[in-house]
Amino acid sequence: MSDTTTVLIIGAGFAGLGTAVRLLKQGIDDFVILERAGEVGGTWRDNTYPGAACDVPSLLYSYSFEQNPNWSRAYSGSSEILDYIKGLVDKHALSRFIRFHVNVTGLVFDDDSATWTAETDGGPSYRARTVVVASGPLSNASLPDIRGLETYIGHKFHSARWDHDYDMADKRVAVIGTGASAVQIVPELVKTARSVKVFQRTPGWVLPRPDFPHPRVARAAFSQVPVLQSTARQAWFWAHEVMAVGMVWDTSATTVIQWAAKANLRRQVKDRWLRKQLTPEFRPGCKRMLMTNDYYPALQRDNCKLISWPIATISPTGIRTADGIEHEVDCIVFATGFDVCKAGTPFPISGVDGRKLGEEWSHGAYAYKSVSVSGYPNLFFTFGPNSGPGHNSALVYMEAEIRYIVDAIRMIIDRGFQTFDVKEVRQNRYHAHIQRRLAATTWNSGCKSWYLTEDGYNGTMYPGFATQFVRQLARVELDDYLTRSQPPARKKPQRTRPELAAGGSHSASKVRRQRNGDPASSDERRRKAVRRSAPTTSSDAASQVVDGA
Ligand SMILES: Cc1cc2nc3c(=O)[nH]c(=O)nc-3n(C[C@H](O)[C@H](O)[C@H](O)COP(=O)(O)OP(=O)(O)OC[C@H]3O[C@@H](n4cnc5c(N)ncnc54)[C@H](O)[C@@H]3O)c2cc1C
Repeated sequence: MSDTTTVLIIGAGFAGLGTAVRLLKQGIDDFVILERAGEVGGTWRDNTYPGAACDVPSLLYSYSFEQNPNWSRAYSGSSEILDYIKGLVDKHALSRFIRFHVNVTGLVFDDDSATWTAETDGGPSYRARTVVVASGPLSNASLPDIRGLETYIGHKFHSARWDHDYDMADKRVAVIGTGASAVQIVPELVKTARSVKVFQRTPGWVLPRPDFPHPRVARAAFSQVPVLQSTARQAWFWAHEVMAVGMVWDTSATTVIQWAAKANLRRQVKDRWLRKQLTPEFRPGCKRMLMTNDYYPALQRDNCKLISWPIATISPTGIRTADGIEHEVDCIVFATGFDVCKAGTPFPISGVDGRKLGEEWSHGAYAYKSVSVSGYPNLFFTFGPNSGPGHNSALVYMEAEIRYIVDAIRMIIDRGFQTFDVKEVRQNRYHAHIQRRLAATTWNSGCKSWYLTEDGYNGTMYPGFATQFVRQLARVELDDYLTRSQPPARKKPQRTRPELAAGGSHSASKVRRQRNGDPASSDERRRKAVRRSAPTTSSDAASQVVDGA
């Protein structure tokens, strides 16, 4: 066990590194970043498949506090994004804080010392006053559960583990999946492989991607006059923000988006039968919108074929579809997405009095403003429950979370709080509010997507504008939290201590609640009411496969 650090960050992707930069800017340098891989970058280290790129413009898919004037084009490729992330590490000398090849397998809170211990896979454990879980929403590649998968003798790999040593030239390749990764892979693959068969379960709505190279003069201007770049970023932000009207809620704007996507399909695909196969049966917004210009043309190349029959089995030499046809292939690419943790936790997390977050989230995750969970003091999540953007850059959401989390950590340090635990009543009120708002969204309108658990519970998406998400995290309200400034004196349950004035105490929470006018019984009632609103069937929906990134 190492010494106690002030902050432990789990994950060295965009979120973990962004948190580190913000901590340094706040003058906090007593932190450690644990990363299970041997390199930084998360999503952009793992997804190196041909054609990998962001589908939100780079000017917006980057941190506002670390703007890069040199993006080569509107939608940069994966290697350029990875370079940007590595640039953050170099510029802020973050390597000294990172411990690579450390896979966190569990977190345990000790109430007496008010510290968290991170258990790791075969290595030492790490103790910290506060923890930021930045392990990423899409960091665990998922292979589909198809009969016969293990019998296949050809080459196979997941899109997030691309085998760059495998030469596709002259090969018959199958791509399973038609989500955000597949629509980037297929146009590249058809250029090299002998043949490509694309196995589709459900088609997605496709809009053109307004991609273009950034002219040298624009890059020079961004560099010389940063306000120009900020203005361009703002323009992209608002262009995406208005899309919420049609993508978060099913409105007449949704009909306009659907009309535009249909017009795009008609323009790019002349064959009626193929068009029918590619037309979704759900409203835009239900699943992630696909942004591509070259997917439909790629599907119509002579060496490419869309297969929309369901896959029955995988055989030793290929894929058998439900119509009985055996498709012999040399290689299968699984563009089948990721195990998304919508219920349960990425690893066991044990809080105050040994309570288990995995059990509490077994029917679906929830948190206060997506970052804090009652009963788990000094613990914060990036990309936590209900923080998913349907229409805007994940980094806008992430940046707001990071600012809030670091402000909370600053408060913990400055005021000498031992524990900083969101009030259950506040969390439940927030959760009920979010679930009420979700009921009116496209995602919860009966359409099926990876955003929902099998029970239909949505603990993934934020039901509103990015602006609203950012605004709610603009300030840490101390009154939202119970705080404790001294170790718990367990032998004296009846206490009136001065430190309670700062916020409260776990063991004295009843006293606090009564002072707040939130009697424990009403707190309990709210908790039960919220739980009732959550799905009540099995917890087997703990993780579900995302169809594409
Ligand atoms: C192909 C692809 C394209 C995408 N494109 C966009 C886009 O255009 N726009 C957009 O808004 N979003 C996009 N996303 C979503 C993307 O995941 C986020 O935008 C962002 O990269 C997430 O950053 P993160 O740091 O939260 O997670 P990650 O980038 O996944 O980083 C998490 C890190 O934590 C590490 N880790 C995980 N578990 C542990 C553990 N137990 N112990 C130690 N370390 C651990 C991982 O190894 C990883 O390095 C895309 C996702 C994918 C997969």
